Amino acid sequence: MAKKKGCLNPNCPSHEKRKMYDEAYIRCPDCGEILSYVCKGCYMKLPNGAKTLCVRCEEEKKDKRKLFRKNTGKAFAGAAAIAVVAIKKIVSK
Ligand SMILES: [Zn+2]
Ligand SMILES: [Zn+2]
Repeated sequence: MAKKKGCLNPNCPSHEKRKMYDEAYIRCPDCGEILSYVCKGCYMKLPNGAKTLCVRCEEEKKDKRKLFRKNTGKAFAGAAAIAVVAIKKIVSK
């Protein structure tokens, strides 16, 4: 993933829209503020340009993957339960 820069000036429209700029940009085209490396997830300033996500967003990304697996498991269980109820209904008729 390419590193991205963002404007950290809270009064700047670029900051408000969380606009990302390429590394080649030095200053914000909107307000002239020096751009900093920002997290692609939360637009927070990154201490250096080594990563594209901050520690928190990286953890969240991992958690989401876990959550996704859990949810798909639950969905299967739910579908099975509904099928059982449907079969019972047919049998009782
Ligand atoms: Zn700006
Ligand atoms: Zn982040």
